[in-house]
Amino acid sequence: MAIREILKYPHPVLRETAEPVTVFDDELKTLVADMAETMYEAPGVGLAANQIGVARQVVVIDITPKEEPKELIVLINPRITKGEGSEIDEEGCLSVVDLCANVTRYAKIWVEAQDATGAPLAFEAEGYYARVIQHEVDHLHGHLFLDWISSLKRSLYKKKRKKQLQAEQKKADAAA
Ligand SMILES: [Zn+2]
Repeated sequence: MAIREILKYPHPVLRETAEPVTVFDDELKTLVADMAETMYEAPGVGLAANQIGVARQVVVIDITPKEEPKELIVLINPRITKGEGSEIDEEGCLSVVDLCANVTRYAKIWVEAQDATGAPLAFEAEGYYARVIQHEVDHLHGHLFLDWISSLKRSLYKKKRKKQLQAEQKKADAAA
């Protein structure tokens, strides 16, 4: 096992689409073990393979509080097949330093994946766990949480600008 370097934005591998894993061998086991060690050391609650420069569909997650025993979740080739509801909460990312911001996510998701041996997994996740999975799956598609923030900021600005223009129009109408 080894601690790998966590790549930071704007490293191009963070924008790559990760390749599906087709071979469940010792090399994959080593990758998963390294990712887990790197995540715990950071410390973080999730890590996608892109973040250590490996564009393959591998994610590790552990959202258990520090004082409780570790509970590592390994998701290979994870897919969110369905999402329901929405929740806004603050997110950060080991690859995006010094930024925490609100992101809207599904409140509940249905996930299909494989474990480190290739066995199929299918489960539902809610709340914080669902948020972390969505964040990590985003990484595998080359997305970062700041993508969703900038679009939020953009739409907020558009709204603000629209109101401003409307107010100016009203003023002009009143003066006419
Ligand atoms: Zn992240």
